[in-house]
Amino acid sequence: MKKNPTSILGFLCVLAILGIIYTTMMPQYISKEEEALAEFSTERALNQVEIIAQKPHYVGSTNHELVANYLKLELNRIGLETSTQEGFTLNDKGLLVKSKNILARIKGTNNTKALLLLSHYDSAPHSFSKGASDDASGVATILEGIRAFLYSKQPQKNDIIILFSDAEELGLNGAALFVNKHPWAKDVGLVLNFEARGSSGPSYMLMETNKGNQALVKEFSNAKATYPVSNSLMYSIYKMLPNDTDLTVFREQGNIQGFNFAFIDGHYNYHTQQDDVQHLNKTTLAHQGTYLMPLLKYFSNIDLNATTSTQDDVYFSIPFSFINYPFDWVMPMTLIALGLLILFIFIGKAKRLITFREIFKGFVPLLGSIIIAGLVTFLGWKIVLQFYPQYSDLLNGFTYNGHAYIGAFVTLSIAICFAFYHHFSEAKSTMNHYVSPLLLWIIINAVIANSLTGAGFLIIPVYFGILLFGIYVFTQHYSLGMNLLFGIPALVIVSPFIVMFPIGLGLKILYGSAILTVLTFGLLLPIFGSFVKKGAWTMFFFAVSIGFFIYAGYHSGYEHGKAKSNSLLYVYNANTNSAVWTTYDVNLDEWTKSYLGEKNQKAVGLNSLPLASKYNSGFTYSAIAPVVDIPKPTISFLRDSVIGNKRYLKIRITPNRKVNRYDIFANPKMTLYNFKANGVSELGAKTNRLEREGAKILCYYVVGNEPLEMEFYINKASIFDMDLIESSFDLMTNPLLKVKPRSDWMMPTPFVLNDAVLIQQKIKRYVAPVAPIVTAPVVDSLAIAKDSLKPAVVKPQ
Ligand SMILES: [Zn+2]
Repeated sequence: MKKNPTSILGFLCVLAILGIIYTTMMPQYISKEEEALAEFSTERALNQVEIIAQKPHYVGSTNHELVANYLKLELNRIGLETSTQEGFTLNDKGLLVKSKNILARIKGTNNTKALLLLSHYDSAPHSFSKGASDDASGVATILEGIRAFLYSKQPQKNDIIILFSDAEELGLNGAALFVNKHPWAKDVGLVLNFEARGSSGPSYMLMETNKGNQALVKEFSNAKATYPVSNSLMYSIYKMLPNDTDLTVFREQGNIQGFNFAFIDGHYNYHTQQDDVQHLNKTTLAHQGTYLMPLLKYFSNIDLNATTSTQDDVYFSIPFSFINYPFDWVMPMTLIALGLLILFIFIGKAKRLITFREIFKGFVPLLGSIIIAGLVTFLGWKIVLQFYPQYSDLLNGFTYNGHAYIGAFVTLSIAICFAFYHHFSEAKSTMNHYVSPLLLWIIINAVIANSLTGAGFLIIPVYFGILLFGIYVFTQHYSLGMNLLFGIPALVIVSPFIVMFPIGLGLKILYGSAILTVLTFGLLLPIFGSFVKKGAWTMFFFAVSIGFFIYAGYHSGYEHGKAKSNSLLYVYNANTNSAVWTTYDVNLDEWTKSYLGEKNQKAVGLNSLPLASKYNSGFTYSAIAPVVDIPKPTISFLRDSVIGNKRYLKIRITPNRKVNRYDIFANPKMTLYNFKANGVSELGAKTNRLEREGAKILCYYVVGNEPLEMEFYINKASIFDMDLIESSFDLMTNPLLKVKPRSDWMMPTPFVLNDAVLIQQKIKRYVAPVAPIVTAPVVDSLAIAKDSLKPAVVKPQ
């Protein structure tokens, strides 16, 4: 009884430590405009974001051109000469676009290799994203950082190249254009890339290298960033997943390595209309600045030829510092931990402090808590989704109240732990029962050492646990202060992952957080195990959890700034002269219903020509729409000739209205050889045969209404069966359709072709319907066949 104040003190201390960890992860205030000109000012960077992100500036939009010009002027203003690099690229996923990179180069005094600062300046298409976080924040960080760097006249040995890349959002095409075609690419030794996959939270450092990370880790550590947030678990996972940042192109196509700095919280704003300057977290932007400044100073002066190695390092960050050691240490460290624990167990047994019986009994509450907390959270989240079907509206899987759900399930898991330890563990057995979580952690680390070596740092808190256990068996000393002190590594190293996993991977992974919560509870058992009145603590955490659930439920609706995403497209089928409204949405709202009707009619036939999207979204519902007079493109067969056993085709598709995108499909039975589109063939192609999946050939994002010209060979005997979908992103402004605006609590769904007017059409030669057929030329026909053309009503927006 008398010990209860100790429990409360223990709880408050844990809470305080967590608070310190959280607040020291990133800057808590922003540097003001009045900041000395030689310093990075977050407010000045913010002004840049505000200007760049006034309007959507996706490739092909008028604002894209304006932003490009603004960036050139801003670079000029700080005294730099700029150049642009423009050209078509066709990436390995069939994404074709003409991109325009903006470049500047600052000469160093004794160049080893150049340091390249990278951010993309295009915003995401389709969903009216203003691109404030993604990626005006990166561009602004570089503009403000380089301004301060030049102003302070820092010494600089290496050349610095600034690259504001284009078309990152489409298929990383700007980066590919630079790496494959620009003469400066071979000079680059290291890249610093500033990115965003959300609008808030700390910015994580993620490195990309084809070899080992050891030299990069060492140099990053030497550069002394004030708030490093990174760990090699992320590095190991990242290496296993297909990556898609501009830096990936540098690594894969140019063997150039570097660091990404990206923030990922606020995923619900990513690529949406809400990616505006209001939603960009100011301290997050400040965090980007705290990376750039020391790294710029450091990497512009070291030998960049010496930043490669074949060895990998384990690394992790703790408040204000960064720790690393070789991968090779992971297995021995795990084995030594096991040896130490066994030694201490036997000493404890000899001193009659520890019994095997009690050790085994310790597994009951531990495994019980893991299984129940994991199951309750796994099923609990599924039940929550049943109660709130609207949570499935957001494709990225993290709801606006997602943080509250993390709180709810984590505190529920802690309540489950207390309940189990209340029933199956007495305070006097705590140190006996502490053996089971230590053993389980060692087993986990043994698995890690084998298959996910980057997570090897997770052994460190276990060491502190084993030492605490050792001190107990030697001295029987057991105090709250000591338990807290030895618990700090678990709180610093493990607990951030509880929150990071669902933020990074979506709420479907919440059960992982629940299990990790129990495992962390296990490491902190000397603190919590000594709590008297565990039943009361169970009730307390249960109540907190309920509080989080109520809060989340109360905030489960939509409002302006936390909008519901929805989608609507108008599809005109030129083959059948019919039209439909369609959507990707599962839950129709009043706006979509006004086009798609009250009865949900399945979208039939529309998915036969699949449009590429991040989450492979298919059309769900459709309804008949009025046929309006949209000018179809002109399809011209510029060449169609037989050479040996091959047929050579050159086809031009010319838009007759302002368009933004073409998707081209061909019957999977057709094999295409030596494929070129607008003069370029596929980057990195290994054979002359076009590799493709299903019917898709390419996706062309149009700039300046430039026609699409494809040339290729097929076997002479092959069928010819091709389709096109032409899209314009003007659904909301097209005078022919008069679509009414969305309510202010709605926004266009990101990641899909949305708010667009589509024409679907077979690619074929125009055959005049009645006129007598003139004998066609046999080979090498240069005749240009015109498609039936309605009078063109081109209304540029
Ligand atoms: Zn981006």
